[in-house]
Amino acid sequence: MRIGVIGVQGDVSEHVDAVARAMKDYGKEGEAIAVRRPADLARVDGLTIPGGESTTISKLLVKLGLFDEIVRRAIDEGMPIMGTCAGSILLSKDAGSQAEKTKTRLLGLMDMAVDRNAFGRQRESFEADLEVQGLDSPFHCVFIRAPAILRTWGDCTQLSRYKDRIVLARQGHLIASAFHPELSGDLRIHRWFLDLV
Ligand code: GLN
Repeated sequence: MRIGVIGVQGDVSEHVDAVARAMKDYGKEGEAIAVRRPADLARVDGLTIPGGESTTISKLLVKLGLFDEIVRRAIDEGMPIMGTCAGSILLSKDAGSQAEKTKTRLLGLMDMAVDRNAFGRQRESFEADLEVQGLDSPFHCVFIRAPAILRTWGDCTQLSRYKDRIVLARQGHLIASAFHPELSGDLRIHRWFLDLV
């Protein structure tokens, strides 16, 4: 299998490393590559969208001719996608007034509404050990200017919460994480993703 990491902005190399490590640890043959052009996207079987700045990533995806093809492959071919932090914002159908004001185009693939920078200034970055549905021990979650998932509907399932906020959700072949599973050294969420590919 070949997994792509959207490589236009944000913590790309951390993601490439984490995906490559997860493949090795879980005995999957393949490679992780950064995706910057349509030709890269055409070569991958699954995609991760890293954290960064969602407005910037969205604009670059459009500019580089990747945006529509990601949507098409996710819908027509069921290509698995894992979006973390800014990536989860892009997967959502509704990212609130900030996204509207900045005219951020959303991939709109998951039945969920998110709130950008939901944890406010004083909590720009924090870490918490959280229960995750389907994992038998807590996951160490790193949040960096993180969004929160405000609500889900349809086929989107909530998998983890921090206080009253949803921070991990899944809808079929799509996973959205408000935190950064590539930064904790724990690759169990990556494993789910690889199992979907
Ligand atoms: N705050 C960023 C946004 O709204 C996301 C932060 C991140 O990806 N670490 O796009």
